[in-house]
Amino acid sequence: MSDVPEPLELHHFSDPATGLEAVVALDDLTLGPAFGGCRFRAYGDLKAASDDACLLAAGMTLKNALAGIPFGGGKAVIRLPAGAFDRAALFAAFGNAIDGLNGRYVTAMDSGTETADMDAIASRTRFVSGSSEQEGDPSPSTARGVAHGIRAAVAAELERDLAGIHVAIQGVGHVGAALAHRLAAEGARLTVADVDSRQAKAVADATGARAVHPSELLITPCDVLAPCAFGGVLDDAVLPTLACRIIAGAANNQLARPDMAAQLAARGILYVPDFVINSGGVIHAALAWQGESADAIGQRVDQIGTTVADILARARSSGSLPEVTAVNLARSLLQI
Ligand code: NAD
Repeated sequence: MSDVPEPLELHHFSDPATGLEAVVALDDLTLGPAFGGCRFRAYGDLKAASDDACLLAAGMTLKNALAGIPFGGGKAVIRLPAGAFDRAALFAAFGNAIDGLNGRYVTAMDSGTETADMDAIASRTRFVSGSSEQEGDPSPSTARGVAHGIRAAVAAELERDLAGIHVAIQGVGHVGAALAHRLAAEGARLTVADVDSRQAKAVADATGARAVHPSELLITPCDVLAPCAFGGVLDDAVLPTLACRIIAGAANNQLARPDMAAQLAARGILYVPDFVINSGGVIHAALAWQGESADAIGQRVDQIGTTVADILARARSSGSLPEVTAVNLARSLLQI
């Protein structure tokens, strides 16, 4: 039996003239049109691309529901062509495909895509966020939400504010660097690492953080570990070496397997579900697409702290994992 969730709609688009081969999964439309990014990377075959789209779309349903935005869950994946291709033409063809869904799906940037790609899509459809005509980079909003979530988790678990709290940030790219600045401003003590050592040093110099080699970051004794680099970081090898009280960061799909949430709890580590704490980016992209003001977007992002606090309190009182509590809360919002 497959673990891949079955979406409400699964669309396959192929355009030999441009090399476009894309899959769009619409997982749930209860709260509004599906909103989710479009991923551009190599996939071994169409089934692998389709499975990825279905999994990611299901995740977007939960994330969007808990983010309190009027959108369902969807995701697109585009297969990176093997040979040479005209990137603008390929994304324009994808724009035509999206337009044919008549507004049931709104696309946005995701890994492998950039503003110029959104511009190419926008040349064919209005159902795209993140083009250069709109409020672009969602990363500062993601960092803002993660900072609120960390504050809420520290208050719940350690009964403290952020002053003097030691946060170790893995990856100080777009989100991690902005997060470091926010936490430093609240008096947190920081350790940072990045495979790009110049980037780590620049962030450390600007925030007073200690920069360490990436191999040291996950084993650094700290109050909060904030994974902000890549997914799947919490696996069997890493688990026994962790020396933190809380894990709360921006990276998507931090758990290598779903049962890692229970294993972290068994080790006394509070894991804040990534799809709750990192929703600042989708809130930004979705509300900017709707034409909301920066103030309105900021206010909605700030509610991530309240949502994290609520989920942690519910989990504690019911004896459930925050991960399970968050999924159940999202399902209750969707009445499924
Ligand atoms: P980014 O590429 O700008 O930053 C990631 C950083 O991690 C890079 O500087 C990279 O050098 C570093 N890195 C890679 N491997 C590392 C390792 N082993 N150890 C230490 N550092 C390492 O990406 P980003 O936009 O900052 O996103 C970070 C994570 O958050 C990603 O997993 C992304 O999917 C997730 N996320 C981002 C957003 C957003 O708004 N950008 C929203 C939701 C989730």
